[in-house]
Amino acid sequence: LNRRLAAFGTTVFAEMSALAVRTGAINLGQGFPDTDGPEEVREAAVRALRDGRGNQYPPGPGVPELRAAIADHQRRFHGLTFDPDTEVLVTAGATEAIAATLLALLEPGDEVIAFEPYYDSYAACVAMAGAVRVPLTLRAPDFRPDLDALRDAITPRTRLLLLNSPHNPTGTVLTREELAAIAELAVERDLLVVTDEVYEHLVFDGEHVPLISLPGMRDRTVSISSAGKTFSFTGWKVGWVTASAPLVTAVRTAKQYLTYVSAGPFQYAVAEALRLPDAYFTAFREDLRAKRDLLADGLAEAGFEVFRPQGTYFVTTDIAPLGEKDGLAFCRSLPERCGVVAVPNAVFYDDPDAGRTQVRFAFCKREDVLREAVSRLRRPA
Ligand code: PMP
Ligand code: GLN
Repeated sequence: LNRRLAAFGTTVFAEMSALAVRTGAINLGQGFPDTDGPEEVREAAVRALRDGRGNQYPPGPGVPELRAAIADHQRRFHGLTFDPDTEVLVTAGATEAIAATLLALLEPGDEVIAFEPYYDSYAACVAMAGAVRVPLTLRAPDFRPDLDALRDAITPRTRLLLLNSPHNPTGTVLTREELAAIAELAVERDLLVVTDEVYEHLVFDGEHVPLISLPGMRDRTVSISSAGKTFSFTGWKVGWVTASAPLVTAVRTAKQYLTYVSAGPFQYAVAEALRLPDAYFTAFREDLRAKRDLLADGLAEAGFEVFRPQGTYFVTTDIAPLGEKDGLAFCRSLPERCGVVAVPNAVFYDDPDAGRTQVRFAFCKREDVLREAVSRLRRPA
């Protein structure tokens, strides 16, 4: 393993999901739903396979049907206009979008500012690009960004801000005011901004404001999203980038040599999913909101300090009130002790002390599963 990647071993998600399989514990670690997405979307994938659509290399930027559907979705939900031919790129999940974007835009030595705790691929992709990450810590209990610290962190080497809202793992949804302040800084200091918006349809409190909609941001923002979370098909790995034509061209250049193209038949199915009626998106959000409340309330009753998330699939807790001192050790022993798997937030921080006693639980699970998990957590062995 080269020096750039030496610090990155197995992802925590792989470790904790393997632990769940080995122990038979309820997996509230890795963020994936335990119920697949809509039947008609699955049928659309089967139809595409049967009809021979996408079984051979699809076009590099993505099939035209999906690019058009992505552009229409951006218009329908956010009032944003993108040219499907030049301003939309289909990727192998948001994960590839993040990798291709960072590899395309960064020079070795460039500084990238991101709020920690962060989704684990950010640090690895910044490292693969030979760039330097500059973490700014979101602190409990509110996990709001410190905008003065952000201003102070910008140096002449800063090239890019890497944002995630709604935010994994804290559930923070950046407000319009926070985004406006960030946008102003980006314009003033001439920075690019990459925004990971994979949980755009999972906002329970507040609203999702795409950063690219703010003044001065249209040509300096790369917006990233994915079908995995919104349609409960995390295994399909269909994601996308929407940005100005020059930025999309840059990201496509990198993507060409990572995966060349993304898998075909699922692209046709996701094109249909993106055209589901508004009622689908509302019902999905309300379902997850009820699950958030069920799990957050249950964890609080079990003695955890709970930071109720405004969005996403996840609730972050603090285990200190349980007399616990180390989230990683806690998560490694939890399956044995009570048959539940969770993820230690410490792995999402550069500063391990910052999140040492934080533990994340996923609530994108069936209600009976969440109830059983809560009941196990209330009476640990
Ligand atoms: N960004 C964030 C914040 C995530 O939580 C995830 C995980 N699902 C991804 C990106 C990756 O998305 P995908 O599965 O589409 O690659
Ligand atoms: N995004 C999901 C999570 O945070 C899963 C990601 C992964 O397995 N790489 O749990």
